[in-house]
This record gives sequence, C-alpha cells and structure tokens, in this order.
Amino acid sequence: VGVRSFVGPIVKRPVSLRLASTLVFLESSKDGKIVQSSLSALSAAEQLGNPIKALFAGSHSTKAAEQLKLGFSTSLVDQIIVANNEVYDNYLPEAVTPLCLELLKDNEFSHFVVASSAVGKNFLPRVGALLDYQPVCDITKIVDSTTFVRPIYAGNALATVQCTQEKKLISVRASSFPACGAGSFEAPIIEAPQVPISELGAKWESENLVKSARPDLGSADKVVSGGRGLKNKETFDKLITPLADSISAAIGATRAAVDSGFCENSLQIGQTGKVIAPDLYIGVGVSGAIQHLAGMKDSKVIVAINSDQEAPIFQVADFGLVGDLNEIVPELTKKLSK
Ligand code: FAD
Repeated sequence: VGVRSFVGPIVKRPVSLRLASTLVFLESSKDGKIVQSSLSALSAAEQLGNPIKALFAGSHSTKAAEQLKLGFSTSLVDQIIVANNEVYDNYLPEAVTPLCLELLKDNEFSHFVVASSAVGKNFLPRVGALLDYQPVCDITKIVDSTTFVRPIYAGNALATVQCTQEKKLISVRASSFPACGAGSFEAPIIEAPQVPISELGAKWESENLVKSARPDLGSADKVVSGGRGLKNKETFDKLITPLADSISAAIGATRAAVDSGFCENSLQIGQTGKVIAPDLYIGVGVSGAIQHLAGMKDSKVIVAINSDQEAPIFQVADFGLVGDLNEIVPELTKKLSK
C-alpha cells in the first residue's frame, strides 16, 4: 500500500508543495514536561524541512506548549495545537486516534511524526489503518522527505524505504535523533478542534511506575548493563550498582538476567526491551546475542567485560576486558570512584 523497500539508487520525487507540512505529536508528563523521545521526534520532523505544527493532547497541554516555546529552539514550528481535555490524559489510543484523524483528514499535512515510544507505537497503527495509509515505523534516518531508513530483522539489516503515499505517517526511533536543543521561539498556541468522543471501549485503570533516583535508562548518556555472567541477584546488586554509581550511569540488563530474576524487566535492553544509544555502554557478563545487540549497538563507546574472549560482544566493543568480572568490576569501580 504505497510503501516499498528497495536496494539501489534512490529516485528523488518532488513533494507537492501544497502538502509539504508536518504535524508532530508531542507527549508530555502530567506536570507539562515534554518527554525526551518527543524532543527527538521534533528534531526529526525539522529534518524534513517543512513548516511544523506541534500537537499536545491532555489536560496539561497548554503548560507543555508554554514549556516548548520557552525551553527549546526550533525554527520550523509555526503553530502549537493544544487539545486540553482530560480524556487524552494517559494517551489511550481509543481517545487520541479520533483527534489525530480530525487533524489529518484534509490535505493540510504531508507528514505526521510521532516518537516510537509506547504511546506512539500504541496509536499510530490505528491512525494508519483508519486513514488507509501504512506507517513507516521506527525510522533511524531521513534521507529525504519521502525516503527513510529503518532497521529490520532485529537491527541486522537496514531497509531504505520510499513512501509514495500522499501522507507519510512516521514513527521515529528516539535514540537515532538528537533531542532539539535549548532556546526559545515564538509561535501561537491554538485550541484543537473539539472531537466528539463517545464510548471509548477502554478504560485507564492505573499505572505502576518504578521510581528511581538513577538516570532514565532510555535517555541516560552512560549505561552499565549486567548479564547472566553475574550468576545471581546478589552479585548483580553488589557489582553493577556501585559501578553504575561511580559514573552516575543508568542500569540495564540482558533478557537472561531479567528472566533469571537479577533485576526488574523495565531494565531489559534489546529487541524486546529498550533501544538505547548512550555515549558509554559497559556490558558486564553479557555475551552479545543479536537480540541484545539490537538494543545497544548504536552506543557511541562500548566496553565489554567477559571471561570468554570469543564472546560476540567483543565484535562490537571498542574496549574489551577479558577476565573474571568478580575481579575486574570491583577494581574498575574503585578506580572510577577516585
Ligand atoms: P549469556 O548468553 O548466557 O552470556 C553470559 C556471558 O557471561 C557469557 O558470554 C559468559 O562468557 C560470561 N561470563 C560468565 N561468567 C563470567 C565471569 N565470571 N566473568 C566474566 N564473564 C562471565 N536478550 C536480550 O538481552 N534482550 C532482548 O530484548 C532479547 N529479546 C529476545 C527475543 C527473542 C525472540 C529471543 C529468542 C531471545 C531474546 N533475547 C533477548 C535473549 C538472547 O537471545 C540471549 O539469550 C540473551 O541476550 C543472553 O543474555 P546474556 O548475555 O546475559 O547471557
């Protein structure tokens, strides 16, 4: 349905100027703070080069819109649309989708951009299905306004996708785009059209957030990740926590470590966990299975500590320490703490 992958030279098509305009959906927390992945989605939207309208939904939308104007620098956002209605709080796809459909129904927007977050992944397919457009998901690069790069096969191959649909619905892998920078800009804040919302068919019950003083794994610039080589939860806590503390890093883990009960599953990195690209990733007792690499191989500097010098993690590591983690990690922590 209008999206095709190909290998070979990219044929650039001119985009109809009438349609060259982008709507970007930005998530914010209840206190109006814009979430990091949405700031990356906004900077990706800027790369498209079109005028941008930013959309906030939820009872905190105006606060978030003010924070965007006063806290961030963007030259292309010419309007901020706010849908100040508590029905959008928690971003239930049943509620958010009709709002997006209302804004996307005519020809105003050529591109609709969301972060590839839990929220974006939840409602973008629904918007696509109802508009009969196929979304281009989890893009890591914008080649031009119709051509995008996205990982396939758990990150083992990159597909260059040309989207010939009139509207391009795009979700953005946050770790592949820098968050838009600090600054301020002027743009009018306008109310979104009222969308009649009948029976949603779904109800928000509650959320159970893990509170931590540590940097958030998804956006931290340093991550220490523990694997099955740590053998048990006690060693995980005894070695990984002080090492992470010594460099103010977030803690991550492999699925094997999570499944073995060493730590909670929100720390899982990989194909079925979080995708991260910190400045520094330290893997301790991590073999480097492809499903784990899918979540961390874009890290800027990778350090691996493993007793098996043939472990696949060393193929992607910038620095490798071959040896027993029980000896190496305490020594490293001591040196880093100085
Ligand atoms: P292992 O592969 O067992 O590696 C442990 C390593 O520790 C070994 O290399 C060993 O040499 C080293 N070691 C042992 N003792 C010591 C010591 N004393 N000192 C130093 N080193 C030591 N995995 C993920 O991580 N994330 C995912 O999202 C994910 N999704 C998956 C999805 C699917 C559909 C499937 C099938 C699998 C998925 N996996 C995922 C699992 C993945 O295939 C691997 O099983 C897992 O990543 C292995 O974790 P590990 O490196 O901790 O364990």
